[in-house]
Amino acid sequence: MEVKEKTRELLEDILTEQAIDIIKNLDLGVYVVSPEREILFWNKKANEIAGYVNDEVIGIFCQDNLLRHVDDNGTELCVHGCPLLETIKDGQIREARVYLRHKSGYRLPVRVKTIPVKKNNEVKGAIEFFQEDSEEINLLDELRRTREKALICPLTEIGNRRYTEQILEDRLSEMKRLNSKLGVFFIDIDDFKKINDTYGHPVGDIVLKMVTRTLVSIMRPYDFVGRWGGEEIVAIVPHIKKIELFDLGERFRKLVSASSIKIAQGRLGVTVSIGATISHENDTVLSIIKRADQLMYESKRNGKNRVTVSTA
Ligand code: GH3
Ligand code: MG
Ligand code: MG
Repeated sequence: MEVKEKTRELLEDILTEQAIDIIKNLDLGVYVVSPEREILFWNKKANEIAGYVNDEVIGIFCQDNLLRHVDDNGTELCVHGCPLLETIKDGQIREARVYLRHKSGYRLPVRVKTIPVKKNNEVKGAIEFFQEDSEEINLLDELRRTREKALICPLTEIGNRRYTEQILEDRLSEMKRLNSKLGVFFIDIDDFKKINDTYGHPVGDIVLKMVTRTLVSIMRPYDFVGRWGGEEIVAIVPHIKKIELFDLGERFRKLVSASSIKIAQGRLGVTVSIGATISHENDTVLSIIKRADQLMYESKRNGKNRVTVSTA
C-alpha cells in the first residue's frame, strides 16, 4: 500500500472527515500524528509557516527531527521533551513557546498547543496547532533594527566605525584563510573645516554625503565603505594586488574631485587625500588602519588631493 493511502487510513481512524475538513482550513498551522508520532496530516497554514509542503512531511516521524522544535535553551524538543509525545503519553493538553526551523533554515518563534485525540478514553494520536509568535517576532525585529542602528551612521547611511572594525577584522581573517590580500584605503576630505566655516555645517553634511555616495557607487558588492570618524572614510577591498592599489585609489580620488553639489553660489566640490595599503600576514585592525592613516597624512603633506600607496 502506498504511504499516502496508509497514512490517510490511519488519519481517518483517528479523525472524522468533518474534523479533517475543519482543521484543513484553519488559519493555524495544524498537524496530526499517530501514537508513534508519524505525521499523518499537515495543513496549508502549516506549510505557509514552516515552508514544508504536504508531501515533504507526511509519513515522516516527529522524532526524525525535520521540524526541529527547540526551546529557549536550544534543546531539541523532537528528541527530548516533545510536547506531542507527552500529550500522547498522558492525554493532557499542553501549550508551549518554542522555535521551529523553517525549511529555509532560520529559527522561527511559534506558540504551540498539543491536544490528544481520544477514543474510548484511549489516546489514538495527537494534534499540534501552531502559530507564529508575533510578540516574539516583533521583539526580534526590534532587536535587529536596534542592532542595525548601532552599526550604521544615520547621516551617510554607511557603516560606522564599530561596524567598519568588525568587517575589517572578519575580512582580515578571511583573507588569511584564503591566502589572499585585502586592500585598505584611508580617505580624508581636504580642507573640510573651510567648507563648514564658509557655507555652514548643513552644507558640510551634504558634501560628506555626496563623497560617501560617490565612493559607494564604484564599490563591488563584496567591498565595504565605512565612516571612520568626522570626515574620514575607510574602504575595504578584498582580493586585490598591491599593484592595483594605486589605480583604484586614483579612481576614488578622481571621481570625488569630479563630483559636486549645487549650492546658491553655484557648484561646490571637494577633493580627498588617500592612503592605501595591502594586508600583511600579521596585520590587526589597528596595525592596518594605522598604516593607511599614515599614508593618508603623507598625501596631505605632499599637497593633498593625491593617493599614497605603501611600498611594503
Ligand atoms: P585637512 O585637509 O588637513 O584634512 O583639513 P580639514 O579641515 O579637513 O581637517 P580637520 O580635521 O581640521 O577638520 C575636519 C572637520 O570636519 C572638522 C569638523 O568640524 C568637520 N566635521 C566632522 N564631522 C562632520 C560632520 O558630520 N558634518 C560636518 N558638516 N562637518 C564635520
Ligand atoms: Mg580633512
Ligand atoms: Mg580628518
